[in-house]
Amino acid sequence: MSEISKSNKRLKAAKKLNRIILDYYTECGNAKKQGRPVGWMPPMNGAIEIFYAMDLQPVFPENWSPVCAAFGLAPKNFAVAEDMGYSRDLCGYLRNIIGYVNGPIDDPDTPLGGLPEPDILLSPGGGCVPVMKIFHALERRFPDAKVFYADLPQVAVEDIRDYHIDYAEDEMKRLISFLTETTGHELDEDRLRETVALSDKACALWDEIMSFRRFVPAPFSAAEIGIMFVMVTRQGTRIAVDFLQEVADEVRARAESKTGVIEDEKVRLFWDNIPPWYHMGIFNYFEKKGGVVVAETYSAAWSLRLDPENPIRSLAVKSLMSYPMVSCVSIEKRKEMVLKACRDYKINGVILHRNRSCVPITLGQMAIKEALEKELGIPSLIIDGDHMDARNFSMAQFQARADAFMEMLLDGKEGLQ
Ligand code: SF4
Repeated sequence: MSEISKSNKRLKAAKKLNRIILDYYTECGNAKKQGRPVGWMPPMNGAIEIFYAMDLQPVFPENWSPVCAAFGLAPKNFAVAEDMGYSRDLCGYLRNIIGYVNGPIDDPDTPLGGLPEPDILLSPGGGCVPVMKIFHALERRFPDAKVFYADLPQVAVEDIRDYHIDYAEDEMKRLISFLTETTGHELDEDRLRETVALSDKACALWDEIMSFRRFVPAPFSAAEIGIMFVMVTRQGTRIAVDFLQEVADEVRARAESKTGVIEDEKVRLFWDNIPPWYHMGIFNYFEKKGGVVVAETYSAAWSLRLDPENPIRSLAVKSLMSYPMVSCVSIEKRKEMVLKACRDYKINGVILHRNRSCVPITLGQMAIKEALEKELGIPSLIIDGDHMDARNFSMAQFQARADAFMEMLLDGKEGLQ
């Protein structure tokens, strides 16, 4: 495999994704040209629906990082960040975005047109530490941007109480007032309800698509998980709903006709942690030997239903829950989520991506490994890597370990059901 490899896609609907990605970044660039305020924010925080409802342009610097990895732009950005003194041990999203904004941001030849500079920054007071530090660095880089400091408690999902939600609801209202004062755009409540309804519909479709992955053979694999782009950037829009509806229809038809990702599915795999965005082709590597990655940790982040009749409260819950569903979660909860997915998706083997670029999700993997073996008899494989930085990933080592693991699973020595 070359230094960057894309995965093979089987879904016809997924071919539309390239167009959706291009349209989104074109819209971001046009917003700036047309004077529509541009706000940079972390993903999964409940603000995207408010931005779309107020006719403001949301931009997600974290999402730009996988795009940079897929287009081979990340090494240049890392070099800029490292020259500034940022350590190679830090989160790859952080190094990429800091390098990008202090380096090639004005390069007119950047694929997809690059990112427009922010008028507004939503600086998070929750989520992981790197995501907070990204915004502190952005505040220094863009001193003219108006900054909203979101003050949210960091609470484990199982510990969220009504008083946390009351507080988050007040924060949402404070955000709306800030946006109105800063941009002059008013919030239309009907439009917010409509936006939240579209967001909820996208989550329902997401859950439906994921549920079809429980079928044997699996009609959809991690090789196509790039469809989550619409969950990051287009929640609250008809674009996400129409696209996901098409994906759901196709996946349902494949499940019903027993059309698997590969002809002869022998082993069902679970992937823990963020995938290496520059090497999505590794998911196809397992397929050559009869293995299909049918579920992964990341997809759970988008299963959050909203109540359109109570939009602000729903978004407040979302702002508290999204990050804890992936990275800010207790080890016990993470273990429970992985074990449940292994039961639901009839998993035979688990790949634990020991991700140098994301300590929060990597923490606790040894406890998960032990629980998988003791409680479910499912073997697991640790792959050392990095979701952004190809320098921390060895293809030869990956292939040697993946081959041995697949051989062991296929021999039925352990865990096959
Ligand atoms: S969750 Fe992981 S990948 Fe995401 S910003 Fe935090 S450290 Fe980086």
